[in-house]
Amino acid sequence: MIKLQNVSKTYQNGTKGLNNINLTIPAGEFVAIVGLSGAGKSTLLRSINRLHDISEGDILINGQSITKAKGSQLRMIRRNIGMIFQSFNLVKRTTVLRNVLAGRVGYHSTIRTILGKFPQKDIDLAFESLDRVNIAEKAYTRADQLSGGQQQRVAIARVLAQEAQIILADEPVASLDPLTTKQVMDDLKKINVEFGITTIVNLHFIDLAREYATRIIGLRAGEVVFDGPVSEATDEK
Ligand code: ADP
Ligand code: ADP
Repeated sequence: MIKLQNVSKTYQNGTKGLNNINLTIPAGEFVAIVGLSGAGKSTLLRSINRLHDISEGDILINGQSITKAKGSQLRMIRRNIGMIFQSFNLVKRTTVLRNVLAGRVGYHSTIRTILGKFPQKDIDLAFESLDRVNIAEKAYTRADQLSGGQQQRVAIARVLAQEAQIILADEPVASLDPLTTKQVMDDLKKINVEFGITTIVNLHFIDLAREYATRIIGLRAGEVVFDGPVSEATDEK
């Protein structure tokens, strides 16, 4: 469960990214955040796993405050949260397999990570994760030789290998064509259903939100202007 209590975020230049947000997102939900550019969607996701600090309020992940967490406690909370970005954020000049294994890094000591040696069970899990998004045959291909859609599926496999219970996806399909968009959204939906992974996806288009999400949250100028089931979301909102 994710809980935001009176969350506000004001950037250093004074811009208000979020204004007094209160939300409860139960485990397993597939939530779409919709809103125009600048509405605060990205600020919201970045706040949830504390890529930046919020200015006011508190955010609880399974009852633990990520806002107040420090050191190893913060790492433990974050291990449970996988991020997916519009620009894929893969390590370009290395293999797909290594990129997916990066999802396991938080589970090992630094020295092991530097040496780049992973236990066989991690490698098995990485292949299983790649299989789930139908891209295992690219395991030894360099990430930058894949198409955008393939790269985004690798990013999803990385989150699976992380065994995250929460996925935050920031406009994951914004740079993809319609067919690839469908494949990536299908994959996100599949793992949401299969593993009960709580999924929060920022989307520019409400049509996609309607098709995939169970709940739509509309943002405007950093405030929630709609929050409800897909059936109640209209275009004006
Ligand atoms: P969205 O993801 O919905 O497009 P953002 O969360 O990126 O919206 O932005 C919300 C508001 O915060 C906008 O007014 C944006 O200009 C502002 N903003 C975002 N990032 C920064 C930043 N690093 N510094 C200052 N203002 C920012
Ligand atoms: P088992 O308890 O036998 O591992 P599970 O149903 O927990 O059975 O998992 C089956 C497979 O799915 C395992 O390979 C496991 O690593 C993987 N798996 C389970 N939960 C997740 C998750 N949240 N993300 C990614 N993979 C998962």
